[in-house]
Amino acid sequence: MRRWNGWGDEATEYHLPPSAVRYLERVLGPGRPSPDADFDAVVRTVPATALPADPRIAADPADRLRHARGQSLPDWVATRSGRIGALPDGIARPASSDDVRGLFDYARSSGARLIPYGGGTSVVGGVNPRPSDRPALTVSLSRMTRLLDLDAVSGLARFEAGVAGPDIESQLAPHGYTLGHFPQSWELSTLGGWVMTRSSGQQSYYYGRMEDLFAGGSVETPSGPLDLPPHPASAAGPDLRQLILGSEGRFGILTSAIVRVRRRPEVERFYGIFFRDLHSGIQAVREMAQASVPVSMLRLSDPEETDATLNLAGKDFAVSSARFGLNVLGYGAGLCLLIVGLTGDRLSVDYAWETALTIANRHKGLAVGRVVGSAWRKSRFRNPYLRNSLWDLGYAADTLETAVPWSNVAGVAQAIKTAIRGALETSGGRVLAFSHISHVYADGASLYITYLWPRAADPDRTLDQWRAMKTAASKVITAVRGTISHHHGVGLDHAPYLAAEKGPVGISMLEAVAAALDPNRILNPGKLLD
Ligand SMILES: Cc1cc2nc3c(=O)[nH]c(=O)nc-3n(C[C@H](O)[C@H](O)[C@H](O)COP(=O)(O)OP(=O)(O)OC[C@H]3O[C@@H](n4cnc5c(N)ncnc54)[C@H](O)[C@@H]3O)c2cc1C
Repeated sequence: MRRWNGWGDEATEYHLPPSAVRYLERVLGPGRPSPDADFDAVVRTVPATALPADPRIAADPADRLRHARGQSLPDWVATRSGRIGALPDGIARPASSDDVRGLFDYARSSGARLIPYGGGTSVVGGVNPRPSDRPALTVSLSRMTRLLDLDAVSGLARFEAGVAGPDIESQLAPHGYTLGHFPQSWELSTLGGWVMTRSSGQQSYYYGRMEDLFAGGSVETPSGPLDLPPHPASAAGPDLRQLILGSEGRFGILTSAIVRVRRRPEVERFYGIFFRDLHSGIQAVREMAQASVPVSMLRLSDPEETDATLNLAGKDFAVSSARFGLNVLGYGAGLCLLIVGLTGDRLSVDYAWETALTIANRHKGLAVGRVVGSAWRKSRFRNPYLRNSLWDLGYAADTLETAVPWSNVAGVAQAIKTAIRGALETSGGRVLAFSHISHVYADGASLYITYLWPRAADPDRTLDQWRAMKTAASKVITAVRGTISHHHGVGLDHAPYLAAEKGPVGISMLEAVAAALDPNRILNPGKLLD
């Protein structure tokens, strides 16, 4: 059973080893655990639905509670404290495009707003109802999960949009294919959600981001169906697929998507390379990206993240011995870990590794084989469970991300971390902020910042702390003209910053599209465009 107030399946735990807890206490002070709200007690507070009864709509309070929030920090505060705020008035689970069309009619006659819901893993408030005098109906795509067609000659697969990561791979595997889209939320997030948020998988350097993988599909809009044929390329005016990508359920509901799939790779390996400092590591990954070295992933942690990763691993003896050895070799306080992913046929993987090593050597990189990389791979989808354990220990954790040109990467990462620390430390709080480069391009890279702090006993105070840090970081991102999101999307939390990025003309273009496709403003109010 899925947790209602945290990440993942209730049966899966990620316990922190005692030495990791001691590390957190040393860096952040003791955590302040407080009891969670009881599910049944919160269900009893769910108000009556404002929707007219309809056999297509479930108005069960527990179901509505489970669909009220996603995975943002405010969502965690809400569900752990039981202060949920606005709830959907009902859940519809269409099984076809016709069903979706029927729901638009229902929305028009009942005055309801529709919130498309994939896996509910949005970290920016993308699936949250907002307080409103109009009822909210969550439209869950959970019954639309089939592989509809596989064109093996072209490498194109059409799926219903509600299919989640593991289900995509298990339906492709018997045919020898993979989509290769592995966001950290892969266990629960869905194809429709990925398209609608321009998601990026961990190996997007090889497989491509969602905008590279999305070849076409079918979108139901309140103004009628929009068919997006899978043209390999086209000069017939602006590409409408690009308008749908990232539209966050404002323009329509994606019912099926055609995606570019590949033969399953012969080999997949993850290696570790240590650098003496962040500057050397950044130089190396930039050169690898600009030389188009055919790796599948380059993930470079800054010294603080490298240190935190080693400490949280809890393997005290192994880690301290490794550190001692690294120190002797001159890899000390500035130590940065790069994980290199290699995917493909044996020949290209060997070539990619040799080329990556040659570049790393120029920057005094120390390759340490596959132990660290394999450990990362093993825990890649388990790591989100750490947030449950941290919360239980009394620590809050959140992440944010951006992308900037190479010339700005190091400076912006530093400025964001400084802003986050400053925002909490002025009120006497302690915060651990660290970053990694998660996705690389020829012209720049994405920065992924994680921040942890002891949460307050009062949930509202925790929320204030988060807001101060998030605002400070977002202001830095906007000031340096980074993007407000490289892959999490806009939702509610980033909507105030979108105008700075798109400009008044850009925003009015998006608003005009929303008005054309959804003239009665039925879909996902407040998300993307405020
Ligand atoms: C632990 C964790 C790790 C994450 N790691 C990554 C990562 O590595 N890479 C990454 O890109 N993101 C990541 N995310 C963010 C999140 O998983 C992505 O934004 C994902 O694409 C959301 O998919 P979903 O199916 O859960 O969509 P939801 O959260 O259900 O919805 C997201 C948005 O899309 C809309 N939507 C969903 N389905 C449809 C549809 N069929 N038609 C129209 N609109 C729709 C919703 O209304 C909402 O606005 C992570 C989140 C968590 C909690």
